[in-house]
Amino acid sequence: MDKINKIYDVIIVGGGPAGLSAAIYAGRANLSVVVIEKEGEGGQIATASSVENYPGGLAGEDGAVLATRMAEQCRSFGAEIVYANVKEYELEGDIKTLRAYGKEFRGRAVIIATGSAPARLGVVGEEEFTGRGVSYCATCDGPFFKGVEIFVAGGGDSAVEEAMYLTRFAKKVTVIHRRDSLRAAKSIQDKAMANEKIEFMLDTVVKELKGSGLLGTIITENVKTGEVKELHATGETGMTGLFVFVGMKPSTDMFEGIIKLENGYILTDEDMRTNLSGVFAAGDVRKKSLRQVITAAADGAIAAASADKWLNEDTDKRVWGA
Ligand code: NAP
Repeated sequence: MDKINKIYDVIIVGGGPAGLSAAIYAGRANLSVVVIEKEGEGGQIATASSVENYPGGLAGEDGAVLATRMAEQCRSFGAEIVYANVKEYELEGDIKTLRAYGKEFRGRAVIIATGSAPARLGVVGEEEFTGRGVSYCATCDGPFFKGVEIFVAGGGDSAVEEAMYLTRFAKKVTVIHRRDSLRAAKSIQDKAMANEKIEFMLDTVVKELKGSGLLGTIITENVKTGEVKELHATGETGMTGLFVFVGMKPSTDMFEGIIKLENGYILTDEDMRTNLSGVFAAGDVRKKSLRQVITAAADGAIAAASADKWLNEDTDKRVWGA
């Protein structure tokens, strides 16, 4: 076990917009900061095809570019970014200890910004064909589907926006949605409706996925009429694509029984304090009403300011909700 001697003022878990914003604010406040990220900087935005509603976001620029700039900004304020998957949390007491494979980090305050991961449809064949036709990331896998007919499951902002992005590659994109109307914002819907390469299959659910090695057939059912359809791959490869955007699942399994959760999301007060002293949460992992890059960034800034205040207030180490 590589025990890092340093005791950080703030350990931030998660390098998405919430974690990186927290690191910018904490670093700029002269606190010693480490961001522990398990995959790549930027979290979900790193895979977004566009982030056009973040102030200063540039049209045509993808999320990965924004993520890289955020990470550079963090480092410019002295924050370290390390890559590790935290498996064990000891969050009680004055010094908190986090363990990843082969590494141990210690800090006085912890900001949890672990975000969320794409939810699964939960149908037969989904796991088998993930990476073989089933995908949760249009920017990562869209180019594999040049000139073929593909499908998107879901009816929210992500499903409709990513369906539009996928029309750059696919011959046709059919959005399969379980209700008779989409959940996506009207502005996003209007653009998609005007796109000739997009079709909608409403009131429809994906029932099962089939194929030999690659996803070849998607079986759907109309929830109103009960009609079952088999959608077969049309291209030469014999593979069709199903991009799944059916919401997100908060990454909080490791906090069950340790931090107060509601429906899997971490409960905080408006200062981002959790029920544990010196432990804060920011971004999509938190129970909140709007999950966007801008609200994640704002949460991160507030969490860092609260952690700074907490570290400097010997007299007020109150615990919210205790
Ligand atoms: P979402 O808004 O929760 O939408 C999930 C969609 O998947 C809904 O249409 C839902 O159907 C459907 N769904 C859920 N479970 C399903 C299942 N088991 N089978 C079939 N369909 C299922 O998720 P999201 O689109 O990923 O967006 C997440 C958050 O990010 C939202 O707050 C969204 O506004 C935000 N976002 C914003 C932008 C933007 O502003 N440009 C872009 C992307 C995401 P029902 O409608 O029937 O519930």
